[in-house]
Amino acid sequence: MVATVGLAAASEPAAPAQDILLFRNATLFDGTGRSPTYNMDVIVEGERIKQVVPDANLDPGLLQKAKIVDVRGRFLMPGMIDAHVHLATPPNRRQAEAVLRRDIFGGVTAVRDMADDLRAVGDLSRASLVGEIAAPDIYYAALMAGPAFFTDKRTAQTSVGGVPGYVPWMQAVTEGTDLPLAVAQARGTFATGIKLYADLSPNMAGRITAEAHRQHMKVWAHATLYPAKPSDVVAAGVDAISHACLLIREPMARVPGWTEPRPTATLAEFRDGKNAALARLFAEMVRRGTILDATIWAYSADTAGSTTLPPLSPGSCDDAIGGAITGQAYRAGVAIDAGTDNVADWTDPWPDLFHELSALSDKAGMSNGAILQSATLIGARASGQERDMGSIEPGKLANMVVLAHDPLTDLNNLKSVVITIKRGRLFERTAFVPLKEGDITDR
Ligand SMILES: [Zn+2]
Repeated sequence: MVATVGLAAASEPAAPAQDILLFRNATLFDGTGRSPTYNMDVIVEGERIKQVVPDANLDPGLLQKAKIVDVRGRFLMPGMIDAHVHLATPPNRRQAEAVLRRDIFGGVTAVRDMADDLRAVGDLSRASLVGEIAAPDIYYAALMAGPAFFTDKRTAQTSVGGVPGYVPWMQAVTEGTDLPLAVAQARGTFATGIKLYADLSPNMAGRITAEAHRQHMKVWAHATLYPAKPSDVVAAGVDAISHACLLIREPMARVPGWTEPRPTATLAEFRDGKNAALARLFAEMVRRGTILDATIWAYSADTAGSTTLPPLSPGSCDDAIGGAITGQAYRAGVAIDAGTDNVADWTDPWPDLFHELSALSDKAGMSNGAILQSATLIGARASGQERDMGSIEPGKLANMVVLAHDPLTDLNNLKSVVITIKRGRLFERTAFVPLKEGDITDR
């Protein structure tokens, strides 16, 4: 009478799930902020969660109709979201597919791509959505910056065949730009948000943000836009600001423009997590609901395990300072997502996201419960997907992770993934094909 879902269902991308799935007797961390509840059943129909109910109240008729996945004694939580990835700078399909495969089989069901060659990212997003590749869902940003940014060689790598600054996914904007048209072109790439990168004044940040919101796009900004400083960027009304280490500019009376020399900041004033200028900034972020996309791991002085970032120069902001800044934001009540902006090398069998979650614990002092919320509901908000993702509730997408052990007692238990479920499709950990040395080739 009891049908179990076998390995075959998980290993190959398949047609969209139509069946009724019953995850039975879970220890449920639903991601809403509630404490875990026990002996809970989650009923999935097609790609969405239909019902969440104590097993004692289960409609017995479902035992006949549903495929049953017995998760007794196991921990069920929402699928995780990496809120800062770069899948195509430069486009590298083999690497992107390998990283995405490592993500989905490790419990990551969505990623937010923070500006790349969107021709490549758009195709990856489509392939993931229709089940051609084993991957999280991909939401992404179209970039805008002042013209001075477009000498950066990465803008050429991501605009091949076009002129950097004059392609819809990476636009140079000035006071004279027709912003309704520029935002409409960005929307035409299927991007969810605009990323504000650099060489933007407070006034321009505000104007772009207002127009993007008018056209129902999110705005995700670097925390300092040279010359706009963090408080200017927050006042512009953006939805999220990236990179804890860019917050070191907040106490400065004047932040230089993108092409001007940058004065060295006194990093010691951030180390105790009690900076007065940041306290004012964080109070305003709490009032507005602005999310901090901290990316602490990307500032790790030990780059041995990662491949994309150059070594930090001596005296620059590192993960200790970035962590102290993020810890201050956390204690002030700022919503913090979990994003990586970095790629671990091929020998690592787990999602890059796990490195950031460790940093949120070790460097920022966040609780495990808060970290799981960062990786789920706050990541969903950051990606503009909170109506569909981030918690286990009826009506939301069936994006979930089954773990053998409880990550609230030890974050390392995230490595006890048994099954990832995305849009009702199962990816069993035993079907994970590890990465090979040649899969990660960006250096
Ligand atoms: Zn980035």
